[in-house]
Amino acid sequence: MRKPNKQVCVIYRGIPASPGVVIGKAFLLDRESIQVTQERIEENEVAKEILKFIKALNETKEEILKIKEKVAKRVDPDHAKIFDAQLMIMEDELINSAVIEEIKKTKSNAEFVYQEVIEQTIKTLSSSKDEYLRERIIDINAVASRLIYNLLGIKHLTLESIDSPVILVARSLSPGDVVHMKKESILGFATDMGGGTSHVALLAKSMGIPAVVGLKSFFDQIQDKQSVILDGIKGEVLICPDEQTLKEYKKRRRYILKKTAELSELKSLLAKTKDGRRIELSANIELPSDADSAIEYGAEGIGLFRTEYLYIAQAGFPTEEEQYKAYLEVAEKVYPKSVILRTFDLGGDKFDGHTGSIYETNPFLGWRAIRACLDLPEIFKVQLRAMLKASAKKNIKIMFPMISEVGELQRAKAILDEAKEELRRKKIPFDEHVPVGIMVEIPSAALASDSLAEACDFFSIGTNDLIQYTLAVDRGNEKIAHLYQGFHPAVLKLIKETIDAGRRNGIWVGLCGEMSADPLATTLLVGMGVDELSTSAMAIPEIKKIIRSIKFEDAKRHAQKVLELPTIDDVKKFLIEDYAKRFGKENRN
Ligand code: PEP
Ligand code: MG
Repeated sequence: MRKPNKQVCVIYRGIPASPGVVIGKAFLLDRESIQVTQERIEENEVAKEILKFIKALNETKEEILKIKEKVAKRVDPDHAKIFDAQLMIMEDELINSAVIEEIKKTKSNAEFVYQEVIEQTIKTLSSSKDEYLRERIIDINAVASRLIYNLLGIKHLTLESIDSPVILVARSLSPGDVVHMKKESILGFATDMGGGTSHVALLAKSMGIPAVVGLKSFFDQIQDKQSVILDGIKGEVLICPDEQTLKEYKKRRRYILKKTAELSELKSLLAKTKDGRRIELSANIELPSDADSAIEYGAEGIGLFRTEYLYIAQAGFPTEEEQYKAYLEVAEKVYPKSVILRTFDLGGDKFDGHTGSIYETNPFLGWRAIRACLDLPEIFKVQLRAMLKASAKKNIKIMFPMISEVGELQRAKAILDEAKEELRRKKIPFDEHVPVGIMVEIPSAALASDSLAEACDFFSIGTNDLIQYTLAVDRGNEKIAHLYQGFHPAVLKLIKETIDAGRRNGIWVGLCGEMSADPLATTLLVGMGVDELSTSAMAIPEIKKIIRSIKFEDAKRHAQKVLELPTIDDVKKFLIEDYAKRFGKENRN
């Protein structure tokens, strides 16, 4: 059933992904609804079908060229480079002549033949050992859907084509889609798919774009240009709100803005408990430009730079020079505070820049992060050299993601040593004692945290993945989002075990998963003994306010009590009541 015509105000509940309340018109990004079927054509229609294909090829090339120009002007010329690869695919003789030959041979419609040829090409490339060839799948997917739309005569809706401010509604979006959003034109977005700690959600938070995900079948209930209120805090979307509702939400918007302004007064104050325990409060960023808003929100440095977004933003590995510049830019912006550069964490839900191109049955359990880097030592070493070069002023730390055991860490460190040696030979300066740490985000790492702590300089706990791997719940799957529970006693035990192992071995322990942004978790994490919380920039003021209002001694007792509770519900109930006692219910929005 699709799209009721009658305009009634309805509330849809999803998962809050990025805070903020916005009001605007819906823009439907309908990508997945095309279905290509095989249709037989007569002998005398073959030439016409081939011409149709050639015409669509030319139209697609023109569209890509236009977007390239627009991106070069609006974003930057480097981002525009991805479109050169797409143009090359449009001109690929092997693909194009195969399509023409198949139209002749099978007497089938061009869109069906083109899709078959592309699927075959992708299959061949995905099994290739050549990384460069495998990467071309991303570009092929991007151009193929555009060309099929043109063959079918359907207007291809892309994010680049949105000029006026809208609330974007899609069945799903990729991190690559979000990274290219312009805040002036996308007020907020709502998707049927996705979880609260999916990378699409995290990116929206970083970019300050309100979002609700996991709305299940919302896309089929809404029409283009309908009025919408999107509440990224409650995780709700309202279609066609009446006057009274609009009034209430405008008031709510004003309240949130006022609260944000009040909190911003804490900017220059330290995150210190009443009895003097200092907690470093830093920000997670995806691109160098995010460092500005991190500083704006009062971050004490960058606790996690998700460097893979350099790849995602340009749909390909950045060069050593490009990476060096990006890392240096962030290091200089926050100097003398420090930046934790995490090596590429590609895979899972973020291998591709534009469309799905992962050919693994379980990508989150697959060729991801350090596993991919250890298999691609040359690419890994380029990144490590770039990081080292940017470390000369000694405010950079290097962190490896998805470490599962000491041997893996040793292999990564051996490649880092090779990178250091290469720089020494060339007399390029870098920090000889650059701190090296790991993300603790796999249960095996938490359980092996004592031996891992002996082999590195710091830990940063990645609760986003630690929760999904401990509970066997995909962090991006809206169908099981209710099972994704950070307050599960087993998750809390692993966090505590990791912090204690860090303490025993005298190393610093931070936490950079989204739990760091949850006001309900702050007292608990401080009480467990974390040295740092790194979070999306906009969450910093509120977390700082909580830290400044508690005593470390009380927080320790609080944590002890929580760790004794047997069920998720017991933990949540305790934390909610405790929070309400301290700050009042109304402060939880
Ligand atoms: C995490 O897993 O908690 C984390 C911070 O890393 P990411 O969200 O990038 O996987
Ligand atoms: Mg992670």
